[in-house]
Amino acid sequence: MICSNKGLANELRHLGGSAKVSAGVDLYLHVQTSLEAIRLVELGARATLVQQLTGLERKVIKRFYRQYNGQPSPAGQMPFSDGWYRKDIRRMLHASVIWQLYKQPVKMERTKACELIDVYEGYLVLVREPLLNITRASFVPLLVAMDVWRERKCNHCRVQYLASVAGSGVICPGCTLYYRHRCRECGTAMKVTSQGRYRKSCNACQQSQDQ
Ligand SMILES: [Zn+2]
Ligand SMILES: [Zn+2]
Repeated sequence: MICSNKGLANELRHLGGSAKVSAGVDLYLHVQTSLEAIRLVELGARATLVQQLTGLERKVIKRFYRQYNGQPSPAGQMPFSDGWYRKDIRRMLHASVIWQLYKQPVKMERTKACELIDVYEGYLVLVREPLLNITRASFVPLLVAMDVWRERKCNHCRVQYLASVAGSGVICPGCTLYYRHRCRECGTAMKVTSQGRYRKSCNACQQSQDQ
């Protein structure tokens, strides 16, 4: 297990008192933090993100990044807006998956690095083709905290999903994809007109498909 138990380390430090115990705890924390940094790089994190999350020396992280990837970590600021996610509804769907993983209750107090490792490893297990790299995944809770995105409840499946504060949709990305060519009332596959377009109303239940 890579992730450190921050609460336990703090408790030990508190109880220990002696310089020897304190030094032991410090060493334990340093090793744990280093392991977290290594795992973040293995999962594709850039040096900047690893440094922000672990607080380790930039030089050390950069050296490890180069050793692991065979090239230096990309320089410059990471892009910060939700434009990239909104370009493709599947990316918004994956952002909602990431958000659900962030919201999972955990028993122990975790470091920020550990939280992202847990979430991203969970995401890789859940999806067949990951669309969000670890940097994009780490932006998801930030976009919520900045009130760029808010949680909404889907009118169809009642699942909580993330949507832009500016948007007015009431259907989650999963349902939008599922019902793209199916009737929203009865689920029947929509028929194509002689012009090659999908019909505006369902053949089975006659329900109009306009929003
Ligand atoms: Zn839905
Ligand atoms: Zn129908």
